[in-house]
Amino acid sequence: MKALTTGKEGVDAGAVRLRREIHALPETAFEEIETAGLVAARMIARGLKVRTGVGKTGVAALFDSGRPGKTVLLRADLDALPLMERTGLPFAATNGKMHACGHDGHVAALDAAADLLLLDPPARGRVVFAFQPGEEGAGGAKAMIADGVLDDPRPDVVFGVHLWTALPLGHVGVARGAMMAAVDEFLIEVTSPGGHAASPHETRDTIVAAAHVVTALQTIVSRRLSPLLPTVVSVTSVHGGSAFNILPESVTLRGTCRSFDVEVADRLPSLVSEIAERAAQTLGCAAKMSYRRISPTVVNHPAEAERALRAAQALAPIPAPGSVTADIRTMGGEDFSEFLLRVPGAFAFVGAARSGPPRGPHHAPDFDFDERALPHAARLLAGFARDVLAD
Ligand SMILES: [Zn+2]
Ligand SMILES: [Zn+2]
Repeated sequence: MKALTTGKEGVDAGAVRLRREIHALPETAFEEIETAGLVAARMIARGLKVRTGVGKTGVAALFDSGRPGKTVLLRADLDALPLMERTGLPFAATNGKMHACGHDGHVAALDAAADLLLLDPPARGRVVFAFQPGEEGAGGAKAMIADGVLDDPRPDVVFGVHLWTALPLGHVGVARGAMMAAVDEFLIEVTSPGGHAASPHETRDTIVAAAHVVTALQTIVSRRLSPLLPTVVSVTSVHGGSAFNILPESVTLRGTCRSFDVEVADRLPSLVSEIAERAAQTLGCAAKMSYRRISPTVVNHPAEAERALRAAQALAPIPAPGSVTADIRTMGGEDFSEFLLRVPGAFAFVGAARSGPPRGPHHAPDFDFDERALPHAARLLAGFARDVLAD
């Protein structure tokens, strides 16, 4: 791929430098003050009209050709995770937070896409560069939308990418339809009066009841839902007890449900509460559930999925044979779905697997991606925008 040059530093080298700068200073949901400030300053320096504080810490920059045409919104996410980094990289973070999902790369790629577009500014229409806070379960997309990122100008099309280390470098994955799962969170409290560990018959045991609830919840997917509709129920945290000789009054379970189908998503809260309550009752305990829908299924719109595939095919040296996939799916979630619920658009994965010794997956403390994917992501974003504006 030919490197592009603007000023002293090429776009591609600039993207790597910016990624490392952001990686070294990770900020979690709605605290992305430095990152947002950095991005806003770069967008202002390009002469774009910049709004800050969109959805608390989001940034929206507008390129307006001044001539009528479509408006396309390109989105990147700003937030890191609350995780101690163990990558050993020279630019590793040391503040107990970590860009362990690749969002540092998304910011750098969208920043570079602005350069790529402004090197040869589109003659018609508008481009909104949206830098979103709080993607990791914090509702940042909704916050930006509530703050008007989809108003004035109203985008005709939205597009976003995720660097994806499960996909080889040089590959792009898109789905014609559902691509990432709906994400929900549940909390279950199993309770009893508690008592002496030596006399379990005189009380009811919340630990044993909670263990039954954990096991019974697995029958939602295996026995209650169609095997043709992908669904996951995972219990991810179990808390209860304070001593070896006390049967605790309460055990708290926490977990997540993932689904693609809208009807399945609607049934999951009642299935989780029904099974938890009945399993606990069988053992004389009570169970109470609270349930939170975090983000809906990421569903690409057909025409925009084709645009994304077209933009991917146009990347050089991509496509190598088979490097553009049209049917990628994952049970992971993304709140870009909130944009796709309101405006036609698409989401794409950009292959970013590192060569060399294996690394942990997204959200692992040793996660890293291949920075050679940054020019691919930047060109895909810019290429998609040009495709829309050429209409
Ligand atoms: Zn993530
Ligand atoms: Zn992510």
